[in-house]
Amino acid sequence: MIQKEKSLDSSFNSTDIKFFKVCLDLAKQALDAGDQPFGSILVNANNEIIAKARNRINEKNALSHPEIELAKWALENLSVEERQKSKMYTTGEHCPMCAGAHRWAEIGSLYYLSSGEQLGQWLEEFGVEDGPINFISTKEIIKNVEIKGPANGELSDKIKEMHRQFIVKHKTASDHI
Ligand SMILES: [Zn+2]
Repeated sequence: MIQKEKSLDSSFNSTDIKFFKVCLDLAKQALDAGDQPFGSILVNANNEIIAKARNRINEKNALSHPEIELAKWALENLSVEERQKSKMYTTGEHCPMCAGAHRWAEIGSLYYLSSGEQLGQWLEEFGVEDGPINFISTKEIIKNVEIKGPANGELSDKIKEMHRQFIVKHKTASDHI
C-alpha cells in the first residue's frame, strides 16, 4: 500500500520528504545509541547526499550536535561555492550554536522538520524542562539564508514519538534536557 504523507507543509516536495526520512533514520540511530534523536544531512546542488551526522552527545561531548558537525565537515571538505550551494536537512531546527555554525560556514538553505518551539512544547507535554539556553528562532539568528520549516504530519509525528521514547527511557520529571 502506498502511504501518502498527510498534511505535510506544502512547501516541501517529494525530494525534501525523501531527505527528511534519511534524517529520521539518523535520529533513530542516535536514539538507539542513547542520545536525543537528532539527525541531519548535507545535500549538494545535484541533490546528492554528501554528508550525514547524528547526535553524539553521549559518545563525544555536549557540543556534538549533528548540525555543527556538518558545518565543520563542510569547512574542511567543500569550497565556499559548494557550501553556499548546499542544503542542510535536519530533524530539528538548529539551536543558536548550530545556527551560528551554519551561517559562519556559509552553508546554503536550511530545511527542518520540527521547530525549536515545537520541541519545547513536546518536552513540556512529556513533563521535562527545556534546556539551559533560550531557543531563539533560527530565522532570527541567520541572515540571508533560505529557511523552511516546520513540516506537519506523519514525519513530524515520527520525530515527536522518538523524543517521547528518549524521555521515557532516560529522564525523570525533574531533569533538564
Ligand atoms: Zn545545536
